[in-house]
Amino acid sequence: MKRLITSALPYVNNKPHLGNLVGSVLPADIFSRFSRNQGKKVLFVCGSDEYGTPITVTAKKMGKTPKEVCDIFHDEHRRLYDWFNIGFDVFSRTTSENHHKITQDIFLEIYKNNYTTEKTEEAFYCEKDKMYLPDRYVEGKCPECGGLARGDQCDCGYVLKTPLELKEPYCVFCKSKPIVKETKHIYLDYSKLELPLIKWVNSKEKDWNPLTVSIARAWLEKGLKSRSITRDLDWGIKVPLPGYENKVFYVWFDAPIGYISFVNDAVGNITDWWGKKSDAKIFHFLGKDNIPFHTIFWPSTLLASGKYKLPDNIVGLSYLNFGGQKVSKSLGHGIFCEDAVKSRLPADVWRFYLSNILPLAGDTDWSDDDFLQFTNSTLVGNISNLYYRVLTFAQKNLELLPRPTLDAIDKDYLTKRSELISKYEREMDSIKLKEGLKTAIEFASLANKYFQEKAPWQEKDNTTTIYVSVNLCLDLALLLEPFIPDFSQKLFNLLGVERPYLINYLDINYFIAKPGFPITKGKIPMFFTRMEPLPARVVPKPGKKEAPKKVAKVEVKNEVKPKAKKQQSKAKKKTLAPKSKIKKKVMPKKKVKKIVKPKKVVKKLVKKKKGPVRQKIKPKPKKVVKKVVKKKVKAKAKKTVKKIPKKTIKKVPLKKKSFLKSLKKLVKKVKMVKKKKK
Ligand SMILES: [Zn+2]
Ligand SMILES: [Zn+2]
Repeated sequence: MKRLITSALPYVNNKPHLGNLVGSVLPADIFSRFSRNQGKKVLFVCGSDEYGTPITVTAKKMGKTPKEVCDIFHDEHRRLYDWFNIGFDVFSRTTSENHHKITQDIFLEIYKNNYTTEKTEEAFYCEKDKMYLPDRYVEGKCPECGGLARGDQCDCGYVLKTPLELKEPYCVFCKSKPIVKETKHIYLDYSKLELPLIKWVNSKEKDWNPLTVSIARAWLEKGLKSRSITRDLDWGIKVPLPGYENKVFYVWFDAPIGYISFVNDAVGNITDWWGKKSDAKIFHFLGKDNIPFHTIFWPSTLLASGKYKLPDNIVGLSYLNFGGQKVSKSLGHGIFCEDAVKSRLPADVWRFYLSNILPLAGDTDWSDDDFLQFTNSTLVGNISNLYYRVLTFAQKNLELLPRPTLDAIDKDYLTKRSELISKYEREMDSIKLKEGLKTAIEFASLANKYFQEKAPWQEKDNTTTIYVSVNLCLDLALLLEPFIPDFSQKLFNLLGVERPYLINYLDINYFIAKPGFPITKGKIPMFFTRMEPLPARVVPKPGKKEAPKKVAKVEVKNEVKPKAKKQQSKAKKKTLAPKSKIKKKVMPKKKVKKIVKPKKVVKKLVKKKKGPVRQKIKPKPKKVVKKVVKKKVKAKAKKTVKKIPKKTIKKVPLKKKSFLKSLKKLVKKVKMVKKKKK
């Protein structure tokens, strides 16, 4: 049996954060690696979603073309997924010629099958820019909360049925007030597809997770209406009908078709994997905000085209929260994938912890302390130490594995081994990936316990114990491969083992390393070493939501900065630039108060540099560190000065010897002025 696995297409107007990774890419990768380990034929596809107004808006702000923006962020996403060892068979893009053709073909099938209608409607139009203003091209006041909202949605969660709902609308490009003008669009009549959708969702109740089923049902109970699938834009896939030359498909119509195009990109054959008679099972991994699109609109496209089978499993994931809040690009909180790269910890260390907090059944919360504790106790203490102990002992005592003579204890442990492996397979197969990881960890404890109980250093003939222990280590590496693939690959390479498969364990006497297996003469490494605490970050307090207007500003800032290239070159450098670290610590956003006491911060930093992990970085002499901090403080101080009323500035003696002293005074004065005003 074949498995076609997809992870949600990342929208490429920004850098990915750990929420993106954990919310679809990583679980999809774990599941596809596991499926390959089962011996199944697997195709794991993904690619970037490159149309829609957020991209064109970002492009205008960056002074680039939409294509250039997509190129930058597509490469950025690909580089980061590579770093995390995501084993896509293809990571393609929706701007490819192939995707255009497949989207147009599918649309024409739907059109031919009479699922579409044409409607004339009113829309905002900017007379200055001479264009319609769909989705994010128009902003105004939210009809729900009164805050700043975009033409398609508001940060308060309100989804606008049409941009015309906006109060006090303005064009995002020239800020002028738009007029209302008629335009025609193609609508897909989803109500015609309600019955087959209900049947399909009902048939999947047992396989899908409860969250996915409940969201799909809620949509179906409300009843489906027709929705527009075209837009008045030039960035997108052209609608292949006369009279629609200036229109493109709505990004939500074309993006999921990417799954099909990417299959074609990967293997050049769609029918085998997605045709109505294909024996492949299709699994979509995605975040919960994407569930309606994947349980209602996407299957509708497939049904209406009449050419493709429906997906078998929609794996809707909840959110990874950060400090109790959803990780958010626009709010700038959360951990970005780039931060993981910069941490200098191996990707496996990140993957291991993230696998343990996958939001497969409800939201989970990131915790720095938990990350540290889990890594040191489980990955290092339980797993890494086991390999070091067993393999160094084996190397000292044997050259070739013997034919084992199993005693009662050995047999008892081997029974437990079989039980745990089949438990693991059941859990992983039903996408209970966290449970699968737990079972693998239990397996590591079993192997440790066996080695301890048999105490081969005291045995007269310890060859059987070594035989069993080495094999338990190899079994464990196979179970852990979906979570920490780099480690397993290194181990198999070190021991000269060919890729093993789970299916072989159907024979309970199966061992990866058979009698006569040569014990490596290579150096046995400590695969993982103890982790040091992550540098302190500003964790936003839960519940403190910024006002909608501020939010919009933050987002603009994020989108404008063309950081991608800089970071790429930074990442290539082997050592971390300590400057950026210091900046992070000394300058927490909006916490001006801390700047008054920079001395303490410097001390802390210097202390931490002595820690074992940081020893690899060439420590800068104290003086230099101080200078850097000073510079930063100066820079910030300038900003602060701007906000102070002119009168105050004149009175402050800026050219004193001790800059810090004057800064203290300055802050005091500002406080005084503020008090007086009150
Ligand atoms: Zn609102
Ligand atoms: Zn305009």
